Amino acid sequence: MGGHAALADGLGTVEVEDETTSLPAMEDLQAEATELLQRLIRFNTVNPPGAERPAQEHLAGLLRDAGFAVELLGRTPERPNLVARLAGAGDGPTLCLLSHVDTVLATAENWEHDPWSGDLADGCVWGRGALDMKSQTAAEVTAALHLARAGWRPARGDLLVVVVVDEETGGAEGAEWLCAEHPDKVRCDLLLNEGGGPVIPYDGGRVYGVCVAEKGVFRFTLRTAGVAGHASMPRIGENALLKMAPLLRAMDERQPAFDLTDAPSALLERLGIAVDGDPGAALERLRARDSALADLVEPMLGVTLAPTRISASEQINVIPASAELQVDCRVPPGLGREHAERRVREVLGADGYRLRFFEEVVGNASPSDGPLMEAIVDWVGEQDTEARVVPTMLPAFTDSRTFRDAFPEVVAYGFCPHRHMTIYETWPLVHSADERIDVRDLGFAATFFRDVTVRLLG
Ligand SMILES: [Zn+2]
Repeated sequence: MGGHAALADGLGTVEVEDETTSLPAMEDLQAEATELLQRLIRFNTVNPPGAERPAQEHLAGLLRDAGFAVELLGRTPERPNLVARLAGAGDGPTLCLLSHVDTVLATAENWEHDPWSGDLADGCVWGRGALDMKSQTAAEVTAALHLARAGWRPARGDLLVVVVVDEETGGAEGAEWLCAEHPDKVRCDLLLNEGGGPVIPYDGGRVYGVCVAEKGVFRFTLRTAGVAGHASMPRIGENALLKMAPLLRAMDERQPAFDLTDAPSALLERLGIAVDGDPGAALERLRARDSALADLVEPMLGVTLAPTRISASEQINVIPASAELQVDCRVPPGLGREHAERRVREVLGADGYRLRFFEEVVGNASPSDGPLMEAIVDWVGEQDTEARVVPTMLPAFTDSRTFRDAFPEVVAYGFCPHRHMTIYETWPLVHSADERIDVRDLGFAATFFRDVTVRLLG
């Protein structure tokens, strides 16, 4: 592999096992990452309650034995976050390999293999967390272990491996707690986390998406008012539920105006789609070329509104005097409530309802160029010469948002490269039955984390 030659140059002090390479091949990393992932899946860390301690202790033992300074820090003893540091010889950037070890639940009867079996079958490791995101934990930790055991230490800066708890329910005991309570232990300059990486087939070639931006969430309630009455005589009252009909129709038929931010702008450009100040036209050109990709890109271009819950009368025979609709609204990074409200009112009009936001998280982003992006682009160029790297935006948010808020200087990307399973194969499996990862992608990702670490920290 091209990456090994480059690596060997940077590793003059490491003992060479044979003449051609000083570090193990991708296959060795793959075997160890596979074993570690199987082990991690067998720790049931469904959140709630999470109960991540045994998994974290397992990882802590491995990292400690390899030479890392390891701390387990938690708001409660049952749910410690893991912070492992390999200090460098000189000043330089701190690179943080971040992941979370909790998962969402799984309903075993819907699975082909038990979700906590970690079975190896059909070339895949099966189980809850195989993609989200114990696979990345396994790949990152395996990379770190291989480097440390080989005697490698950063020539400049520090390598941090951070494995948090409690991501799936918001991070109050995980990333948020850690960044608030122990900022000095997890402060970093460059960060790799979940959110991007599975290969995207496009235009006869392959594209790898690096997630540089994440949307915010502005969930709101719409309330309509009427007059109660006996449901046997509909005209006697004023039905608040029927007043929802035009609002629902508006959200079905109309879209908020586009809000084009840096990441999707750069994405379209690198996909060869000229924007020329008209994101709508650009989206249609992309749709003509690749409609599946256009569906992924569309939510990156502006505010989205998805009505998901409605309630009205508590009794079947009473005309409702009020009705309530909840809308999941996602807003491009950097834009706040005022902007969200303006876009909502553009779609719904100003009258006939009351609007109340009940959850507000502003999204954030990192610049889509710089040393971390260059390292990714170069690595992909060596491993998959036909492929391109593009910046992407996640329509949701991850712990990267918390780190960007806590440490404004950090460049945080979501990237865990998968070459064999495409984004169209992995996305439907996340939080779903039969979650699994191709073991070759585990080796691919572990090799990436190892090579990029050496490249950035020397
Ligand atoms: Zn996740």
